[in-house]
Amino acid sequence: MCGIVGYVGKKQAVPILIDGLSKLEYRGYDSAGVAVMQDGKIEVKKAKGRLAVLEEKLNSEGKITGVMGIGHTRWATHGEPSDTNAHPHLSKTGKFAVVHNGIIENYIKLREYLTSKGFEFISETDTEVIAHLVEYYYTGNMVETVAKIVEKVEGSYALGILCDDNPDTFVAVRKESPLIVGLGDGENFIASDVPAILGYTRDVYFLENDEIVVLSSDDVKIYTTDGDEIKKEPFRVNWDISAAEKGGYEHFMFKEIMEQPRAIKDTISPRIQNGKIVLDDINLNADYIKKLDKIYIVACGSAYHVGVVGKYVIEDMTRIPVEVSIASEFRYMNPIVNERTLTVVISQSGETADTIAAMREAKRLGSRTFAVVNAVGSAIAREADDVLYTWAGPEISVATTKAYSTQLNAMYLLSLYIAQELELIDNARLNDCIEALEKLPDNIQSIVENKEEIQYIASKYYNAKSVFFLGRTLDYAVSLEGSLKLKEISYIHSEAYAAGELKHGTIALIEEGTVVVALCTVKPLFDKMLSNIKEVKARGAVVIAIAEEGHTEIEKEADYVIYIPKSDSLVLPSETVVPLQLFAYYVASLKGLDIDKPRNLAKSVTVE
Ligand code: GLU
Repeated sequence: MCGIVGYVGKKQAVPILIDGLSKLEYRGYDSAGVAVMQDGKIEVKKAKGRLAVLEEKLNSEGKITGVMGIGHTRWATHGEPSDTNAHPHLSKTGKFAVVHNGIIENYIKLREYLTSKGFEFISETDTEVIAHLVEYYYTGNMVETVAKIVEKVEGSYALGILCDDNPDTFVAVRKESPLIVGLGDGENFIASDVPAILGYTRDVYFLENDEIVVLSSDDVKIYTTDGDEIKKEPFRVNWDISAAEKGGYEHFMFKEIMEQPRAIKDTISPRIQNGKIVLDDINLNADYIKKLDKIYIVACGSAYHVGVVGKYVIEDMTRIPVEVSIASEFRYMNPIVNERTLTVVISQSGETADTIAAMREAKRLGSRTFAVVNAVGSAIAREADDVLYTWAGPEISVATTKAYSTQLNAMYLLSLYIAQELELIDNARLNDCIEALEKLPDNIQSIVENKEEIQYIASKYYNAKSVFFLGRTLDYAVSLEGSLKLKEISYIHSEAYAAGELKHGTIALIEEGTVVVALCTVKPLFDKMLSNIKEVKARGAVVIAIAEEGHTEIEKEADYVIYIPKSDSLVLPSETVVPLQLFAYYVASLKGLDIDKPRNLAKSVTVE
């Protein structure tokens, strides 16, 4: 959450900061601000609302000039979105400006202490303590001063700090919140995420916890909190810059839905070689797997829904028991995890605070950790024992689509890999599964090409008050995601139910005109779903069914049927989810909502 950008170079800082922030707005967008070193003095402009409001303010109130600055888009945790609470925050005398991503957990104690020392607070944020603390502990040397801050502050943070004693350099530090350094030619950057700097450089350093970085236009130096210099190898990002642009589409979400065939291809193709599943750099051999008595999948939000699919798929194929847990619950539930447990963590950003905490708890309990991650070099990728990258490219829309889809494919690959290593799958079945995986991109392409049909159905029901998603087993797992997608971007109340469970209470909510989306792709349970559809129809529901091509009997029961291409049951969730993504998208679009930046949400949830 929250986007930080910092720049030092020879060009005007404000346009570069605004451009960078616009690429990070998905991380938080309730207010924005910049601080720039103008003629040896720090100038700040900030505004409640979207970045456009700040731009407007900069235009109307006069430009700030200068070649070094820091910027921020906020996702409020402490204090409402307002001009005052927006970052950057200034110290008492205005000598220091700070942008912060994360939460300062001991801010109340620090605030009381600083108040007793004569510091006055003007915002409600936790961040303001940092600005005053820097001034309080300032020794004349910023590395020393920041080291002192690291010692005093508890919680998570990425910080960018300007000091007016240093008109040509600024500093940054991180702990448990992401921060990268971009290395340019005569210019250098900090950013919360790669898209912010892709237009300027591809060479980055990924900072580790407690590393203090000092940037000038021609130099970047990294220090430990003891003041020792650290040498790091830059990492070259191979993302295409257009991947982080809308490319003619109205919304990133739509673009990312359309990118799913390619993203899935990128996830699976390198892992299929000569009829086998090959997970390079992953050290799960048969001897180790045989000793496992359980796999735990831990994640949040849509990634958790991937885990629910993963449970069905892995248990079915390998017979190893799988538990799925919400990451924020996992570490407080005294989980039964030990060296015979493999803990699989799933996170697009690799920076999800709850998932990081859960992963560390699993490690502490002796478990090996296996991460499914999209962002290269992220905290989870660095700390997990094994990493399976999803190679989805940057996902900008807050509501995930292609990251979810590629994570599903990571689950198929993992289950097939374990089955193959344990010789639980014969060649014929393995070949069928590989063939189904390879056909998936084309099948999804044909679903997205049928988008007008889904748009038409959405146009009939976008004013619905409540929508129910029903399915059994794998379809139930996909229902969870379909329901979340609709809630996130259209703000329509919706619930996902295991279809057989509805009659045990929730069916009381079905009334004339209630919209029910019935997923009917699990072949052995098709007839059972027909009965469930009859039950809700009898109570007045309007039913939109998703079924495999050829299962036309459903037309007798459902009001609308969206067909998906026939495929192996292993990969069907990847097809079933696509009409649900498009349905949510069109409903939100017809309601005129801000699809890429839905209210109250932000991507990359770096707070617990
Ligand atoms: N905790 C800080 C605030 O509420 C920073 C939030 C963020 O990461 O955007 O202002």
